Amino acid sequence: MNSVIAPVWRAELPTEAATQGLAREVAALVGADDLVTLSGELGAGKTTFARALIRRLTGDPELETPSPTFTLLQIYDTPAFPIVHADLYRVKDPSELAELGWDEAAEGALVLVEWAERAGAALTGDRLDIALFTDARRGADYRRAEITGHGAMAARLLSKRGAQSVLERSGWDEAEREHLQGDASSRAYELLTKASGEKALLMISPPRPDGPPVRFGKPYSAIARLAENILPFVAVDEALRAQDLSAPEIYASDLETGFAVLEYFGTEGVAGPDGPNFERYAQAAALLAQLHARDLPESLPIDGGTYKIPPYDLDALLIEADLLP
Ligand code: ADP
Ligand code: MG
Repeated sequence: MNSVIAPVWRAELPTEAATQGLAREVAALVGADDLVTLSGELGAGKTTFARALIRRLTGDPELETPSPTFTLLQIYDTPAFPIVHADLYRVKDPSELAELGWDEAAEGALVLVEWAERAGAALTGDRLDIALFTDARRGADYRRAEITGHGAMAARLLSKRGAQSVLERSGWDEAEREHLQGDASSRAYELLTKASGEKALLMISPPRPDGPPVRFGKPYSAIARLAENILPFVAVDEALRAQDLSAPEIYASDLETGFAVLEYFGTEGVAGPDGPNFERYAQAAALLAQLHARDLPESLPIDGGTYKIPPYDLDALLIEADLLP
């Protein structure tokens, strides 16, 4: 994503448990060689946040996690990478970090730093900045967080926010999420299951940059008319539904990040376990013929604008057919 302004994720944290919950969500975004800075006044909750993050990543909810206020560094092991938790409040000069053995400790580690500003430019890595604020008017336990992503972390944060936004808007944010086997595309899917047993699909299809030119100076995706984001999917899905055809209802979508929550149609395929179901193939062919006979729009309304359906021309047909030989 080329956004110049770094994405910000804001969260209200009315209780300490809410702060811990946010830390567990952030745990899914970070890994080896990432840097997480924690800022906020004394008692804002920096160590509380770090502790919950460390316990999540080590998988040990009871893990002893002393504040590094005096030791400056605490190091933890997780199955995938070490975690360095540092509190640089007492560091007066960035050069002191070398004496602490900072570089060795931070190599390949997830680094969590309170009072990161004391380290000057010594801290590197894709960075997530977490600022915690108190607000006395809203009570002693109230906190607010602002999470900002930089570098590769910006895209990860945007993606996380996109998923969160569609799940919340569609009312599926409490559902269990389970990764599904992909289809023959770059999209990924998760099966969402509510406590009631009700199911939906989360479609994950981040916008894709064009590949290198392959023919006529154009990239494959342009010639084959592949969708570069989910706007064509949403527009065509809604257009099919407007024709009284069965396409999944879209409960919520985020065009910018490429997430959508879709109606779940179950696992039954056009081909069954005993091979092709010819009746279904015949129905599908009849449906295509019916569609062909209808007077269909060339442009579809979407998101305040219009989507012009591209022609499936000879170039598109040939480059797709070329995949077979
Ligand atoms: P810091 O590391 O920023 O100095 P700590 O995490 O050590 O702060 O302390 C935060 C204190 O505030 C803890 O005693 C914690 O129990 C308390 N607290 C109360 N409400 C919250 C909240 N919503 N989020 C985080 N900490 C909270
Ligand atoms: Mg602290």
